[in-house]
Amino acid sequence: MYGVELMLLLSMATVCAGRGGSVAERNASYWLQQAQHQLATRLERMRDAGVGDMHMAKNVIMLLGDGLSITTHTAARILKGQYGGASGEESQLAVESFPYSGFSKTYCTDSQTADSACAATACLAGIKTNYGSIGQSEQGTHVNSILQWAQMAGKATGVVTTTRLTDASPAAAYAHVKQRSQELDIARQLIEELPGRQLDVILGGGLGKFASERKDGRDLVQEWLQANPDGCFARSLDSLHACSERNGSLLGVFSDNHMAYHLAAPVDQPRLKDLTAMAIERLAEQSNYGYFVFIEGGRIDHGHHETRAGYALDEMLEFDAAIETAMQLTDSRETLIVVTADHSHTLSMSGDAMRGTPILGLDESQRDLDGVPYSTLNYALGKWQSLNKDGKRENPAPFLSKTSYTPSYIRAKGAHSGEDVAIFAQGPQSHLFSGVMEQNLLPHLMAYAACLGQGVTLCNDPH
Ligand SMILES: [Zn+2]
Repeated sequence: MYGVELMLLLSMATVCAGRGGSVAERNASYWLQQAQHQLATRLERMRDAGVGDMHMAKNVIMLLGDGLSITTHTAARILKGQYGGASGEESQLAVESFPYSGFSKTYCTDSQTADSACAATACLAGIKTNYGSIGQSEQGTHVNSILQWAQMAGKATGVVTTTRLTDASPAAAYAHVKQRSQELDIARQLIEELPGRQLDVILGGGLGKFASERKDGRDLVQEWLQANPDGCFARSLDSLHACSERNGSLLGVFSDNHMAYHLAAPVDQPRLKDLTAMAIERLAEQSNYGYFVFIEGGRIDHGHHETRAGYALDEMLEFDAAIETAMQLTDSRETLIVVTADHSHTLSMSGDAMRGTPILGLDESQRDLDGVPYSTLNYALGKWQSLNKDGKRENPAPFLSKTSYTPSYIRAKGAHSGEDVAIFAQGPQSHLFSGVMEQNLLPHLMAYAACLGQGVTLCNDPH
């Protein structure tokens, strides 16, 4: 049915709109149809290859590492081993035991490099949109997220993050705004609208957007408690544990702004693995039909923006521990776990460092042209990038050519990068998550596996 329409849309897509991309890409329907087309093609190829299983995913856990680049994976793996006194390179992250992996293309409708808003909209709502928009197309059409699809199927749902709950990635689970900075409205949508007000578990930071920073005088936590008389509100690790004694919905907000980095956290701040365990255990009790939960390691990205690799890698290891917790608490025969990133970062692992070299230290085997040592990890964009021998940056434009060296640029903070990011999957239908795909296909694949939403699913697939 969508074949002819898609051909038409694809032909329109070749008509450039000046800024790149096509006019058709501004519509939600373009991306929804494109995703269904990708899904159909992928299913056909998997069938032809004899790959796959017929098991439906009762539960889906999507774990998103914000800014989790491939280099971050590698460097964090080495750091994990070195924390344990080993050489490091041979160490393993939790996702390395997953049977399938792939890549997603993260560009947005108007940008080569994604921000968390458009990327999370792709990951959770199945459409690409413009930089900064959440839960709606570039033209402004609202789209439901997979959490809403899951609620309509009777599943329990949850959102967990280490950032403000109203930050771009978690917001894409439940909100619709043109600009990610509209966080006071995002908080209102979480409490008032669907699917936010029907979430069974909400855990993260950013209490200010719900009360003290509001200009309308509302206290959204109190409003949530009034709407959820059986609900439990937690502000610390202890009060989170106290909530485990009770049934009902769970709201935990552990900081006024983003939760503190694990390296700088107060003792009463829960770790991401604590939040993950609490969410999975609670959601498993909430519905006989299973659950969908979105869990974000949100501050990997912030460490990278500060160009402080040590923080980013430590946050990655916190995310790794959360993945391990999710694996331990679930049965891979009924729970699909998908791990991915929204976008990459410019961290690189450079030089010829010897085996076992401390990953946060110097590449001892080489010097730069001035005989000055350099670190193994560095950022292409960042505030502490090496300068020329006079300590000043020159305009590189006159020197650039097809064969010239590529300079490093200095700016106030680190920046995202636009290359593909990794996807890892385990559980029912995890074979679908292999190869290279557009990022907005992800929720359609999860929906196929768990029989959610309006598209083709394992339960309605005529094959
Ligand atoms: Zn970022």
